[in-house]
Amino acid sequence: MDEKFDCIIVGGGIAGLSAAMILARANVRFLLIERGEFCGAKNVSGGVLWGRDLARLVPEYHEEDGFERFVNHRRLTFMDAQSAFTIDFKSSHFDAPPYSGVTVLRARFDAWLAEKVQAAIDASDVADESFLATNILVEEVLMEDGRAVGIRAGEEKFYADVVLLAEGVNNLLTRQVGLQADYVPADYVAVGVKEVIGFDRNVLEDRFQLRGRSGLTNEFVGYASGGVEGGGFLYTNTESVSLGLVLGMKDLREKGRKPYDLLNEFKAHPVVADMIRGGEVLEYSAHVVSVGDLRGMPREVYADGVLIAGEAAGLLLNAGRAIQGMDYAMRSGILAAETVIAARERGDFSAATLKNYRTALENSYVMKDLRTFQDAVHLLHSPMMFGPVPELICDFGRQFFTVDSAPTPRAGQMLRAAIKRHASYWDLIKLGIKAARAL
Ligand SMILES: Cc1cc2nc3c(=O)[nH]c(=O)nc-3n(C[C@H](O)[C@H](O)[C@H](O)COP(=O)(O)OP(=O)(O)OC[C@H]3O[C@@H](n4cnc5c(N)ncnc54)[C@H](O)[C@@H]3O)c2cc1C
Repeated sequence: MDEKFDCIIVGGGIAGLSAAMILARANVRFLLIERGEFCGAKNVSGGVLWGRDLARLVPEYHEEDGFERFVNHRRLTFMDAQSAFTIDFKSSHFDAPPYSGVTVLRARFDAWLAEKVQAAIDASDVADESFLATNILVEEVLMEDGRAVGIRAGEEKFYADVVLLAEGVNNLLTRQVGLQADYVPADYVAVGVKEVIGFDRNVLEDRFQLRGRSGLTNEFVGYASGGVEGGGFLYTNTESVSLGLVLGMKDLREKGRKPYDLLNEFKAHPVVADMIRGGEVLEYSAHVVSVGDLRGMPREVYADGVLIAGEAAGLLLNAGRAIQGMDYAMRSGILAAETVIAARERGDFSAATLKNYRTALENSYVMKDLRTFQDAVHLLHSPMMFGPVPELICDFGRQFFTVDSAPTPRAGQMLRAAIKRHASYWDLIKLGIKAARAL
């Protein structure tokens, strides 16, 4: 193995592997280091991989088995203790590749993507000089005269012109190089808990009206998170569902609730219990996730000899429509790799050149969406959104769908009565103004 690489990538998650694919295709010599036994071994996601960048990395991906199902059916459910009021959208517009979203199980998906990267390395001019190395923990970014020059893993040191940190949300190396404050307030992080629940494939497909590889995503707000800031999700895989909660860390602590207890309550809700009846829990996992608040991002995504991609850079958006972290990781990994290629052509890996990565990120949908929907991110912190609003929607639904052989009020009357029971008009007007600005 040569001592010095063009680039060292820390982290074989989505961001790191996406960058590696672009570098391999451009014949750039790189070393990717992943601490897990294999790529994906340590990774957790809901997870729907949104967007079209996967088709850019692996054009034939839809013919392969890296992903679980493509998404053509989406549901958003408001819950109280007994009811669920759902907005449901299904369309055959979403049936053709490249799909707008695919469900993935990370242990399988990341390992598959790593195989594709290895194939790209093997086909490159530097087949013997680029490596995917697993089961190695990077402990330190080596600095010389204020610039990153390599990494240390145990006693071993490896050097490169540029180090790409794609280490995920627990960004200890990003902190070490001084780009992220050592202390990140609990407001800016959430915890995700998830179970993979296995089914006989026919049962799963009948229960969720799935055909071939089509899939359903369902997000839940209200009772799902037991009064704690956050929400729930259920995503269909080939022969299982991923069911989980994403919960605000600070609110969990203040309310003294435990994520796993909340997950059990969510599973026991009559509507969810019917969805998972007869399934067998195959796997349980928990992971920290950022909340998409720009104030929690590192102060910069580049410095002399270093770039930061994916969730290590705080690139995640949860504005109510979907959690987007994997697609941002993919796009930022691609943009970081393109910046490395351009820097290599110029022979300059200083911050002055690497700052082009920031510009590329700002010009991409990643930073544009993060900026456009910051108000929506803040709106989701409002207790109204995970308490009174879902409750009044369910209350209204219950009245609207009840037929009890008595005079029926008009829908407007029912709605006003439900509002009165759960909130005030003034609260709703304030929320409406914020929502109008946010969306
Ligand atoms: C419960 C939950 C649900 C989610 N749902 C969704 C969803 O539905 N859709 C979506 O788009 N996003 C979702 N996300 C967010 C998404 O999972 C992340 O945004 C995404 O995984 C970030 O990708 P990444 O490559 O930046 O980091 P990661 O995927 O976390 O990869 C980082 C990699 O770096 C490795 N690593 C870290 N430190 C070191 C080190 N020092 N040395 C060597 N290796 C190291 C890790 O082992 C890991 O493999 C969810 C997250 C959670 C927790």
